[in-house]
Amino acid sequence: DVRAEGISKRFADTAALADVTLNARAGELVALLGPSGSGKTTLLRIVAGLEQASAGRILLGGEDATQVPVQDRGVGFMFQSYALFRHLTVADNIAYGLKVRPRAARPSAAIIRARVTELLELVQLPGIEKRYPSQLSGGQRQRVALARALAVDPKVLLLDEPFGALDAKVRRDLRRWLRDIHERTGHTTLFVTHDQDEALEIADRVAILNQGRLEQIGTPDEIYEHPATAFVAGFIGESA
Ligand code: ATP
Repeated sequence: DVRAEGISKRFADTAALADVTLNARAGELVALLGPSGSGKTTLLRIVAGLEQASAGRILLGGEDATQVPVQDRGVGFMFQSYALFRHLTVADNIAYGLKVRPRAARPSAAIIRARVTELLELVQLPGIEKRYPSQLSGGQRQRVALARALAVDPKVLLLDEPFGALDAKVRRDLRRWLRDIHERTGHTTLFVTHDQDEALEIADRVAILNQGRLEQIGTPDEIYEHPATAFVAGFIGESA
């Protein structure tokens, strides 16, 4: 499981996060939902270890992760800003995370190859090891990016607007596909989106952020039926 405890973050004169406490239980998919600038990406970057919190701590599997370097946190991430490496093949993109962990032994080439094959089957793109990202569609690239995030068998999977750049039809297909993969692999997942429908459709629980504060966390039903604040009622209502 993953737990953010009392996380605050300031950038110069901006309070990006103010005392946010939330968790995702083992195997749970929790969506972080909120308007642009509400602090979703910043929270994910703090969980990943790409950003330091001004206050609070992150617990991964019950352990304080604050001093653990990014590559050793056991998080897999798929951020818009971490697109595939263009000069590497699909296989080398997926294998990347297996090769750069300072505290873990590097697996043999044969083990890496087998893992890449298995992951490409999981994301339903078997046999494309030797292709380059430029030879893939947008949706295929996102699937490869997910395979890369899963390569290290992460304790926590962090997805930041993974389908943000794709058209509506592809987004809807990938949503169902992601939910299906989630059910098969059971990774504890934090998923950032500003799309209410997406969050309510795929998440076990939804955390709603507004101006760096947590407004509510609950199941889609709880949020629909008992919005905790006027903000939540308005924000959820917009999609109806
Ligand atoms: P979006 O949906 O647009 O990505 P978000 O909810 O993910 O938004 P964040 O990107 O976390 O929001 O930003 C939260 C606040 O922190 C914003 O006001 C943003 O301008 C500010 N911020 C984020 N990163 C930095 C940074 N590196 N330096 C200064 N301010 C930042």
